[in-house]
Amino acid sequence: MKKLVMIGNGMAGVRTIEEILKLSPEQFEITIFGQEPHPNYNRIKLSNILQGDTSFDEIIINPLDWYKENNIQLFTGESITKIDVESKKVISDQGREVAYDELIIATGSNSFILPIPGADKIGVTGFRDIKDCEMMIKSAAEYKKAVVIGGGLLGLEAARGLLNLGMKVDVVHLMPSLMERQLDPIASSLLKAELESQGMRFLMEKETVEVIGDERVAGLRFKDGSFVQADLVVMAIGIKSNTIVAKNSGIYVNRGIVVNDYMETSAPHVYAVGECAEHREIVYGLVAPLYEQGKVLAERLCGREASAYEGSVTGTQLKVAGVDLFSAGEIYEDGTTKSIMVYNEYEGIYKRALIRNNRIVGIVLYGDTKDSTRLYRMLSKKEDITGISIFESQCSAEGGSGDIASMPNDELVCGCNGVTKGAIVEAIKTQGLITLDQVSHCTNAGRSCGRCKPMVNDILAYTLGDQFDANAAQKTSICGCTTISREELIAEIREKGLTSVKEVMNVLEWNNEEGCTKCRPAINYYLGMIHMDEYKDDRDSRLVNEKMHANIQKDGTYSVVPRMYGGVTTAADLKKIAEVAEKYEVPLVKLTGGQRIGLFGVKKEDLPSMWKELDMPSGYAYGKTLRTVKTCVGAQFCRYGTQDSMSLGIELEKKFERLDTPHKVKMGVSACPRNCSEAGIKDIGFVGIDGGWEIYVAGNGGVDLRAGDLLATVKTEAEVMEMTGAYLQYYRETANYLERTSKWVERVGLEHVKEVLANEETRKELNERMDQTLKKYIEPWNEAIESENIKDKYYANHIVKAGE
Ligand SMILES: Cc1cc2nc3c(=O)[nH]c(=O)nc-3n(C[C@H](O)[C@H](O)[C@H](O)COP(=O)(O)OP(=O)(O)OC[C@H]3O[C@@H](n4cnc5c(N)ncnc54)[C@H](O)[C@@H]3O)c2cc1C
Ligand code: SF4
Repeated sequence: MKKLVMIGNGMAGVRTIEEILKLSPEQFEITIFGQEPHPNYNRIKLSNILQGDTSFDEIIINPLDWYKENNIQLFTGESITKIDVESKKVISDQGREVAYDELIIATGSNSFILPIPGADKIGVTGFRDIKDCEMMIKSAAEYKKAVVIGGGLLGLEAARGLLNLGMKVDVVHLMPSLMERQLDPIASSLLKAELESQGMRFLMEKETVEVIGDERVAGLRFKDGSFVQADLVVMAIGIKSNTIVAKNSGIYVNRGIVVNDYMETSAPHVYAVGECAEHREIVYGLVAPLYEQGKVLAERLCGREASAYEGSVTGTQLKVAGVDLFSAGEIYEDGTTKSIMVYNEYEGIYKRALIRNNRIVGIVLYGDTKDSTRLYRMLSKKEDITGISIFESQCSAEGGSGDIASMPNDELVCGCNGVTKGAIVEAIKTQGLITLDQVSHCTNAGRSCGRCKPMVNDILAYTLGDQFDANAAQKTSICGCTTISREELIAEIREKGLTSVKEVMNVLEWNNEEGCTKCRPAINYYLGMIHMDEYKDDRDSRLVNEKMHANIQKDGTYSVVPRMYGGVTTAADLKKIAEVAEKYEVPLVKLTGGQRIGLFGVKKEDLPSMWKELDMPSGYAYGKTLRTVKTCVGAQFCRYGTQDSMSLGIELEKKFERLDTPHKVKMGVSACPRNCSEAGIKDIGFVGIDGGWEIYVAGNGGVDLRAGDLLATVKTEAEVMEMTGAYLQYYRETANYLERTSKWVERVGLEHVKEVLANEETRKELNERMDQTLKKYIEPWNEAIESENIKDKYYANHIVKAGE
């Protein structure tokens, strides 16, 4: 097998790998290096995250399991610093050297930060990745006033997000009109008026010359001597191709890494795709052309007759609620162009096509973009428009052709992913698709910015005719293998008495009989939750960490974290852990955030014998289950503690360990409101007060930082246990699989949860079902030690693929 290495784990690069896997899955042994600590995610949707429409989990395009299933070795949080093009190897910042036969550079770009004094102050950021988004979300929780520099696409999306986060936002723009490279002055002024009505303020024609403040930003100073106050500054003035690795390795770089029509760089066997690449003097900053590049490169690498990449015309849309805008091609008239224009000032709708030699060379649509795909096709195909009506949809918000029948099959529906109407119709007909989700899953349409989803829905309606069910089409199915939603799945399992994952997929006519990594763990969880004691867990349907009962690490080794109830240990246990770590030459022994000791870098085949020698229960550091109960030292030792936090923590952990939950659950117990165990950001947190306990729920210390809400105040530890049991069981029964408690509470409402749990009879029933469930669990490490079958199937040294 040839070795294919990719530098960069972003949108264009991973799409290229997806194309390669489609064409020739066995041809390459693939290794990917990603500087960010995440699997591949949809960067486009960072704007939606900031605007509060979606969560970080939802923008992951390919979860870690996908890499595993496709035998891709992924190193996250690791950058390549040098390519040795002579000896064909890459070298990482951690000193790792990996040889390649073929190498793809897909390092994207960086935010352009103005080279002005003070730009390095705390509180100044670009808008490029999850880290930037987290920083903005955190700042909005603490500070009030944001300034965004840049009135282009990114700046306006960032500004809208910051408004949603409750900040006051000024947008500073160098030019007299917004998005001047995509919009003409009329469209631009309509946009400005709409955004002003949404609460954005604009400082036009201002050139920033200095960021002022001490350590943290306090404001901006402009060239005209004026000043604006700011606690947070977002620079969204453009991007700069990330070419540093190529440059350092002697590969030819201009604005980007220069490539030919087959994405080949100046070095043999080294290719570049995405925002880091410069093709025919153009560096693209939108995914549609990058995906086209990826397709050409995949064909080239797989030895197919690759069609040359000849460049792309790009279209722009703005992801801000209340703004419907599309623009492509040329914007400004010159002596050789004429405009066709309609303008409904009353309804704020404006459409203009720029024509040269009977062909459309530019489009600006504001307020009604239904004509965008048709006009965009005419523009990109250079169609002669003689005798053709340019704007089919009326110039009114109610108008619109929606006429799928007259749309040619080769018309692009999803610009980002290059999916045509014909491809969608074909997939619907041949694969029996009936929902939007299914069409996305099968064709990629709608998988990026999502703007084409209404049209995909119209195509579904048109193709299915009488069989089209609008409700079913919009329904959120649990994954692309079925049209069934979570609620329907649970009802069907109950009504039809379904008892296994296979049976569910058979009886409910899954369109993919093996299911996928999204639905199989979910079905397994729902079956276990419904059939409390008789369900036999389907281990192979679990996510890889749970299947292995250990966390897989980025280099393919595992970590072992034994239970330490309430974060309390003994000298004897510490000794045992030290001896095992020494004997197995564990490369890293680390205290985890959950007050336990983690042994990192363990070989798969060593797991069972290490567990045996440790002779301690699994800490479930890998599971969708109760992870840890963090405690402070409390009344037993601390001068302030009014309650015994350690005992309560141990009792909670002993009772609820191993319980399957929709997502991981963490608890914290503090013996007084000083809250040393950080109980306020746990799924369930307990804070000791005089004469009782406060119970906080739905906190989260992870990416979506959230403080817990007070659920109840109780007097005794018995009441704590009773309330916790009822709360957890209600979460188990009503949350979607992989929904954290914070999201669940936000969805169903804290008041609703309080109401349910206020009823003593309901609490009792929930606790009964909880107790019945808890009876069925057995210690998994011990089970593995005792079972030769388990040892051989999961831990012997032959390759186990996820989902096998
Ligand atoms: C907020 C926002 C909104 C956007 N909205 C849209 C939109 O609506 N429509 C649209 O078409 N496009 C949009 N884009 C642009 C789109 O996201 C990019 O065009 C696309 O992500 C580029 O893909 P890429 O693979 O070239 O780069 P990236 O997706 O940036 O991936 C590059 C990856 O390489 C990694 N990397 C860099 N150097 C190294 C190294 N030395 N070693 C290892 N890894 C490295 C980086 O960490 C990064 O993860 C938006 C971008 C942003 C930031
Ligand atoms: S939370 Fe209170 S009792 Fe616990 S360690 Fe901190 S100060 Fe002491």
